[in-house]
Amino acid sequence: MELAGSAGAEQFDADVIIIGGGPAGSTLGTLLAQNGRKALIIEKDIHPRDHVGESLVPSTNLVFNRIGFLDKLNDAGFIPKPGTGWNGPRSPIWKFVEIPLFEIPIEGNTQNWTFHVERDAMDTMLLRHAHDNGARVLQGVKVTDVLFEGGRAVGVRAQVADGWERELRSKIVVDASGRRCMLATRLGMKRKDRNFNQFCIYSWFRNVKRPPDRHYGWGLFYFLGMNQAWGWQFSLRGGKESVGIVVDKEDFQKSGQDEDNFFSSLVKRSRQFTHVMQDAERIRPYWVEGDYSYKIDRYAGPGWLMVGDALRFVDPIFSSGVDVALFSALYAYEAIEESWRTGNEEGVFDAFHDRINLGVDSWYDTISLFYKLQNLLTRYAVDRKWRPYLIRALQGAPYNKERVESNRKLQEAMQASFDRVMTDPESLLRPWAMDPEKDRTLTCPTCLGVADYWEDEQAFVCRRCGARTEAKGARFLSDERNAASRAAVR
Ligand SMILES: Cc1cc2nc3c(=O)[nH]c(=O)nc-3n(C[C@H](O)[C@H](O)[C@H](O)COP(=O)(O)OP(=O)(O)OC[C@H]3O[C@@H](n4cnc5c(N)ncnc54)[C@H](O)[C@@H]3O)c2cc1C
Repeated sequence: MELAGSAGAEQFDADVIIIGGGPAGSTLGTLLAQNGRKALIIEKDIHPRDHVGESLVPSTNLVFNRIGFLDKLNDAGFIPKPGTGWNGPRSPIWKFVEIPLFEIPIEGNTQNWTFHVERDAMDTMLLRHAHDNGARVLQGVKVTDVLFEGGRAVGVRAQVADGWERELRSKIVVDASGRRCMLATRLGMKRKDRNFNQFCIYSWFRNVKRPPDRHYGWGLFYFLGMNQAWGWQFSLRGGKESVGIVVDKEDFQKSGQDEDNFFSSLVKRSRQFTHVMQDAERIRPYWVEGDYSYKIDRYAGPGWLMVGDALRFVDPIFSSGVDVALFSALYAYEAIEESWRTGNEEGVFDAFHDRINLGVDSWYDTISLFYKLQNLLTRYAVDRKWRPYLIRALQGAPYNKERVESNRKLQEAMQASFDRVMTDPESLLRPWAMDPEKDRTLTCPTCLGVADYWEDEQAFVCRRCGARTEAKGARFLSDERNAASRAAVR
């Protein structure tokens, strides 16, 4: 592809340079190109490339439709996903707490399903869609630095594998580099999330038991009766199933097992999971992800914005990643256009930051409550009053005040239930209340870490922050005793 020659102060290689051609970068590139802007997407890999994140949420229909991509997803035959369901370690086979995700209408939505996708295929189609709409795409080219002049981002340094390197200039630089967080790392703004230290292992399998028609295509989740642990089963095209497990990283490290044995031992913790996996045959290597939750101080600044995972990553339990990627791309597009129209870049970019931050915080708060006490979610899913709130929360797109307010009501109610459960030693909803011998951990309400049962003290002690709780009740002790126990843990 030919680019403009070496650029002077007023000469640009593109209006917007986008680092990364995942869902966030491709969506932004498409929107800009559709409006006649020169968008240049620079992708270090050559698509198709593997990627985790195969279950979409209903809100993504809206952005895909807006950029003219939804029909392509349907035509490609990706498995339609109308709902999500989960069950406990001893639930009867194929019995789920069901959330039909489209039970409540979504304004502007044109179909009652979203998708399970092979990400290598979907991301390739989406990048091609950007190109077909007029965005310029460089693949196999890595951005090695973002160039700043007088505190303003003015372009990037790009490098091809053979060492070819040059500087490219643009009016705006957008970081869509995913969890590599190119720009945030460069600016020293990436902070690890101390509340989540999850570890994920997954692969594709054949001969996994196919869900009955009623649940085929649903996002199926298995609770494993263990703190912060869950598994997924997503049906993909051609009879493949994506199966994965998420646990606290320390549980994997403490197990001393290799990936295969660890995976199998967790599958065995759930009756249903054991059933579906009994004849399963793995058809590609395990894919392992860890330490993936983090926060970034600012999502925009002079001449730059971040979109998708490059701006934050929250735990994947509710499949929020592609929702954040698409909506942050849409709002970044609107912010760029508005900044050019009004000349008020700072104000508009600040508003972009606030809007996305509000939404991602809302995802985060619901996820945190889920981890505090998984059983609660089940209760809320079957409650007549709260079920619509839960469905709306899981549909995605929490980027307006109304939706955030709806989520906040749900979160407050869940928090109140959690507090009640934790102060009642007899409550059957307490972690491991039903099975005290088997699951000797609970979630620390202070930092959401894993608290182990210490036999000699008959108390739980959090591995991370040292807070402790007596075993008979589940009330964590006061701050001074926490401090003492922290010292003891060290
Ligand atoms: C365990 C796990 C499970 C998940 N499950 C789900 C799920 O079920 N549903 C869901 O919606 N989300 C899920 N996610 C999240 C999802 O994977 C991401 O949120 C999504 O891919 C973000 O899209 P993106 O475009 O921001 O980043 P990416 O898809 O990561 O794309 C970034 C692109 O930038 C490129 N790049 C990086 N650095 C450079 C560079 N220096 N120069 C040029 N190019 C560069 C990369 O090659 C990549 O192609 C999951 C994540 C994890 C960790």
